[in-house]
Amino acid sequence: MSDPLDWLDDALTNLDRRGLRRSLVERVGPQRGDRIEITDTNPQRQQGTDTNPQRQQGRARRLINFGSNDYLGLAADPRIAAAAKQAIDETGWGAGASPLVTGRSALHAELERKLAEFEGTEAAILFPSGYAANVGTIAALVGKGDAIYSDELNHASIIDGCRLSGAVIEVFAHRDLGQLKEHLLRGRSYRQRLIVTDSVFSMTGDVAPLAGLVELAERHGAMLLVDEAHATGVFGEHGRGWCEEVRVDEAVPIRVGTLSKSLGSHGGFVAGSQRLIDWLANRARPYVFSTAAPPAASAAALTALEIVHKEPHRRTDLRELAISVRRQLLDRGLSYGSSFSQIIPMVIGDPRRVAAAAAELRERGYFVPGIRPPSVPEGQSLLRISLTCLHTSAQIDALVDALVEITG
Ligand SMILES: *Cc1c(COP(=O)(O)O)cnc(C)c1O
Repeated sequence: MSDPLDWLDDALTNLDRRGLRRSLVERVGPQRGDRIEITDTNPQRQQGTDTNPQRQQGRARRLINFGSNDYLGLAADPRIAAAAKQAIDETGWGAGASPLVTGRSALHAELERKLAEFEGTEAAILFPSGYAANVGTIAALVGKGDAIYSDELNHASIIDGCRLSGAVIEVFAHRDLGQLKEHLLRGRSYRQRLIVTDSVFSMTGDVAPLAGLVELAERHGAMLLVDEAHATGVFGEHGRGWCEEVRVDEAVPIRVGTLSKSLGSHGGFVAGSQRLIDWLANRARPYVFSTAAPPAASAAALTALEIVHKEPHRRTDLRELAISVRRQLLDRGLSYGSSFSQIIPMVIGDPRRVAAAAAELRERGYFVPGIRPPSVPEGQSLLRISLTCLHTSAQIDALVDALVEITG
């Protein structure tokens, strides 16, 4: 009898053929923004058949890291690790239950208060991840008979939340306020309506037209959810994100964020009014039915928030670095799309060419992830450069030279 899972061999081979199969990276040691050590998975080198002596450096390879979301260089910050250790000593590791039962510790509660203070909202609520925050929040706010208006390049967790909710999904072209307005005018008969968008888009590094979205939401009586996953800690005077940068934070009633990127910890959150947070605590299923994150993750995030407050140079350095990289790419004739942030894409198109370029960069000592479908639409495969405040201008100059040689 054949094994019912046999079809997986064909399916994986098919991914291989289309240049879409992912190989897993094994990082050795800390995630340190600008540097990474990975276990070498190049089969040639493992078998010792690669004759290039420069490449025979044993199994672990040290690379300059352009593939982390550790934008403020906090993931391996010793102060954050120390806060987590202390919390483990005091409260142990596991949370042991969902937050509504016994999983919500004093550290979770304190972090929720501090996040609300940081965001300037009445309240905030923690989720096991940013993914869970989006899925849970969207599905708790709309359902059958309702409508969602979603930017076509929104993050997968938003897309999944939309699908799970059962609401009608109207996808509008990327950053296209005109098309959104048409959808809103045509959809007056829905009960609740929700507009959702990333603020900084995770693959293109460009930003949502928030002022226009706020205006449309207000004019048409729609709720507005903005996902600040890549902007928290990076933009805005206090590091709240892109909403603060363009001064609409008070006009955006539902703000989603993650503790796992700039804040170097783990978990997701939603900030907003008390009644919104009360509703989510009752009705967001990932909140109700998932175990709370270990309290030590909250302790780590609390320390990260203090660092964001006390060390604004981290975000200003990063923003300046991003401006300088974009200028250099432009000077050298390389396009970065409409990036406006520390995420700088180079669209190549064909997934196989992207994989080859990423492999060549790795040979030269740079970790730059190749991003392929389903993370980007077909034909839009790209190299994604993520900057952190730890990168030096020498590292950047060398990367730009390599990019010119490989893709120019
Ligand atoms: C990474 C990301 C998330 C998910 O956050 P996690 O905490 O990693 O689950 C949500 N939205 C966007 C836009 C993201 O880039």
